[in-house]
Amino acid sequence: MLSFILRAINYNKLYNLLIFTAFLPFYVNSSAITDFDNILTKAEKIKSSNPTQFSVLISKLNSSRHELSLSQKHHLKYLNGYHATFTGQLDTAIKIYGEILKSNANKNIKFKANLSLTNTYAIAKNWKEAMENLSLVISNLSEVNNKSLFNLAITVIAITYNEYGQFQSTLKYIQKVDFMELDSRTKCMLQLLTVEAKLRLKYFDENSPYIEDSIRLCEAAEEILMSNFIRFHLASLYVDNGDAKNTLDLLLSHLDEVEEINYPNLSLRTYSLLSKAFLLEDKLEKSKYYATKVIEQSNGLETTKSISQAYLSLFLIAEQNKDYAQALDYHKKYLATEKAFTDESSAKELAFQIAQHKSLEQQGQIKLLNEQNKSLTIERQLSKTKLANNRLFMSLLSIIVVLLAFFGFRSYHTQKQLKALSEFDPLTGIYNRGHFTHLGKTALAYAKNTQQDLCVVMFDLDYFKSINDSYGHACGDWALKEVVKTIKTVIRQEDIFARIGGEEFCIILPNCDLPSSVIVVEQYRRVLTEIDSIGSGQQYSISASFGITDLVNSGYQLEQLLADADTAMYKSKEQGRNRATLFNTF
Ligand code: GH3
Ligand code: MG
Ligand code: MG
Repeated sequence: MLSFILRAINYNKLYNLLIFTAFLPFYVNSSAITDFDNILTKAEKIKSSNPTQFSVLISKLNSSRHELSLSQKHHLKYLNGYHATFTGQLDTAIKIYGEILKSNANKNIKFKANLSLTNTYAIAKNWKEAMENLSLVISNLSEVNNKSLFNLAITVIAITYNEYGQFQSTLKYIQKVDFMELDSRTKCMLQLLTVEAKLRLKYFDENSPYIEDSIRLCEAAEEILMSNFIRFHLASLYVDNGDAKNTLDLLLSHLDEVEEINYPNLSLRTYSLLSKAFLLEDKLEKSKYYATKVIEQSNGLETTKSISQAYLSLFLIAEQNKDYAQALDYHKKYLATEKAFTDESSAKELAFQIAQHKSLEQQGQIKLLNEQNKSLTIERQLSKTKLANNRLFMSLLSIIVVLLAFFGFRSYHTQKQLKALSEFDPLTGIYNRGHFTHLGKTALAYAKNTQQDLCVVMFDLDYFKSINDSYGHACGDWALKEVVKTIKTVIRQEDIFARIGGEEFCIILPNCDLPSSVIVVEQYRRVLTEIDSIGSGQQYSISASFGITDLVNSGYQLEQLLADADTAMYKSKEQGRNRATLFNTF
């Protein structure tokens, strides 16, 4: 959700959460109204609506810094931090806010610095720090005596929790706000956050009048970006339910408006849903059109769900069009973006978990201190609460463990699939030629560095074509798999075994000299001839011809080693097959 408030125009990477703080009145030092106070107040007001003018005011104040009172200095410092966040100098901003928090600045300035710090950490994707800081904001919430600042804090808390997928927490904090007192912008914002949270928690369905009311409220407040975000959440629900018609009706009727706002995060999400809905209706061209738009405009937002959804659509379309090369390419991209997305989600989940743990620990400690000063009855009550806390913590922990395991599994699974696509031969499961070359070169470099021996063995099955011709291709496939299975039982773990052609295989034997290789290859040859083909339903014999070379004969170039082993292997064929030949011995 934080990403939802990304600014569209020049500040593409920044969140217009900062806009909220811009509307805050100036809380400190109201008694001494000086020129500097006026400038500070003005700067505070325009800080996000007019960034250029804001910069001018800030540099003016900075150059007269020595004339400011202490509280004015603190306020200026906060604005400098804000300016740094707004212009993307996140490290500087974090440093400035940190200094304010350590200083003797007044409570409200410190509280605001904390809010901005949470926001800045989230922009920098420092999920753990953002969450820890949010906990600080929450623990200081009860001391905030200014209504607008309190409402702002609740808005920041709700935005952050939605961003972390902690929708229950969002709702808990929004409850603390008195809606009657809110300005229409904040009201619209909080209703949007509520709609998102309740839809995700399935607390209400697409027919809830609250959704329509919220859209109207935001429209009346002229918050078109937010009203369209609510439509997006509603459309997500339609599309998840397989209701393409309602998705398209809702989104297409406001597409012009969305495109006019030109706010990447909203347009990308909208295009992605349109692509998905058109795909549901089998309108491949339209689906492809919107998916392509997502990819084209995705600059800098790679870890969003929209991108992975777009690649998924493109993959499914290419597959339906029987364009398998394209399909594979899109599928790889889909997996990669999905992985980035789930990695980020688990980082957030973990951050939330750590912060919860810490705050529960703190609560426990505070209660312990109280216990010392209170009567036995109260002490008993407290231990009940502690028990409840522990239970809460345990249930939270178990949910999180399940979630982490799920994310972990998904990313592990995705990675495995990705690797499998690029490294292994699909029929036999051993390395393919490409990955074999990569590993072979590494093994050669290692042998060279450590001055170790290394042998290369190549083998090709004998008269394999006749197996296919006589008993069918499936029988040939069975034999290939059986050959691999058999060789695997006799090679060492460090040997690199690959299928480099139809019925051609290669084994690199690190740290193995030529005389030893002759012995092991004889074993390979023998076990292959002992394969009982009856498992394939047919009776035939299997054998292979082998060629062997080593570093002394062929040098350290993999290409040369393979070529020489191949020459030796052909020598075995020439001499009657089912035998091994050493390179350079003929
Ligand atoms: P030689 O002893 O001279 O090597 O004779 P051969 O019949 O093994 O040689 P040839 O190169 O003529 O034939 C190899 C055959 O291997 C041809 C091809 O159909 C078959 N082949 C290649 N890949 C596969 C596969 O994945 N599955 C099956 N079943 N057969 C394959
Ligand atoms: Mg052959
Ligand atoms: Mg061959």
